[in-house]
Amino acid sequence: MSENPFQPESHSTGGWREWLGLAPRSDDRQVAAVHNTPDSASRVLTEPEISRQAKRRLLGQVTDFLIDHDLEILPFTLSIAYDCMTGGSPKLAQQILERTEKGLPVTLKWLEDASATQARDATTEAVATLVSQLEDSLADFGRTMAGARDANGSYSVALQNHVDELNSARDSDNPVERLTRLTRRMLDHTRSVASDLAASEAQIGTLQTRLDEARRLANHDHLTGLPNRRAFDELFDRETRAAKLAGEALSVAFCDIDNFKRINDTHGHPAGDRVIRYVADILGRIADARCHVARHGGEEFAVLLRGVTVADCWARLETARTEIAQKRLVNRTNDTPFGRITFSGGIADALGYRTRSAALKAADDALFAAKHAGRNRIVIAGEEPQPLREVA
Ligand code: GH3
Ligand code: MG
Ligand code: MG
Repeated sequence: MSENPFQPESHSTGGWREWLGLAPRSDDRQVAAVHNTPDSASRVLTEPEISRQAKRRLLGQVTDFLIDHDLEILPFTLSIAYDCMTGGSPKLAQQILERTEKGLPVTLKWLEDASATQARDATTEAVATLVSQLEDSLADFGRTMAGARDANGSYSVALQNHVDELNSARDSDNPVERLTRLTRRMLDHTRSVASDLAASEAQIGTLQTRLDEARRLANHDHLTGLPNRRAFDELFDRETRAAKLAGEALSVAFCDIDNFKRINDTHGHPAGDRVIRYVADILGRIADARCHVARHGGEEFAVLLRGVTVADCWARLETARTEIAQKRLVNRTNDTPFGRITFSGGIADALGYRTRSAALKAADDALFAAKHAGRNRIVIAGEEPQPLREVA
């Protein structure tokens, strides 16, 4: 393993500062000097003293990072600095180092984008880890099953040998002794097969849990917990078959937060994430066994409603739109109002098109029409955008 330059102990040498491209600090030398005084060298520090020094050093590193990069003191920047100093985000720390080495500034905006990429990478990594764990479990399971099969095979052979021996036994042999021996061996073999089978059962359980977790990660968006685009496509095909079979309506819609880039630019990426989660929560309330709400990407949601006509779909989304538009959200990290959050929607009759992509395109075109008509409204494909019913 390579040395972690962000561990507090490298502070006294100035190593972590060099790693992050920060200028040496005057009290780095002072700290080193204090440590080297004959007085401190002669006295063994107590555990609470060592712990207090380590805490002070860590806080100093976090503070210096924010000050030297001219970053605001926010929960977001504090947590990034803390993670970089403690080795919690080695990749991000490496990126910061590369950036400072190139003489580029580490700004709030850059940190937001970099940490969003890290979050996506973390999910991909988690799925990859689960997949490799699954592969290991499968290999273990295969070995145990092969072991159980072998044990079972040798059990049958042993049994057959004993039966043959018994059959060929001479009168002088003691049949009771032979039967006792045979029974003991049968028991031994049975125990070995039983323990192999119990191990297989436990492995099946582990395998199932990991499979469930891998499926959940692969199908859900990590930010909102909603199904992701991949899962939505599968749901679309399944619900299309079900709706056709039952002769039910199937409506599909896209909802896209209006002027969302402005929210990110004004309040920062983490605040933007909270707005996405808020809209996801309100839209998610529409979902049930036959109605699905997914995060299709960025600040866009896809909705699929079986047994619901486009007109009823419009009414449901309109309720969500009005609820969101009426709220006045505040950025709770600094009490700044977000202003009005709105979304636009486009709806299409999913069964009115030959393919999934044609139906999705129709809903997307309707969404485009809603944006074009001034946003904060929901348009049904093939219909004129309705004039906006203003909310208080
Ligand atoms: P419009 O009303 O036309 O939809 O304008 P808009 O600003 O909402 O749309 P645009 O496509 O210009 O910008 C969407 C922004 O959403 C750009 C992207 O950086 C941001 N974004 C995408 N995914 C995420 C995310 O997961 N979190 C945050 N905070 N922002 C995201
Ligand atoms: Mg948008
Ligand atoms: Mg968009």
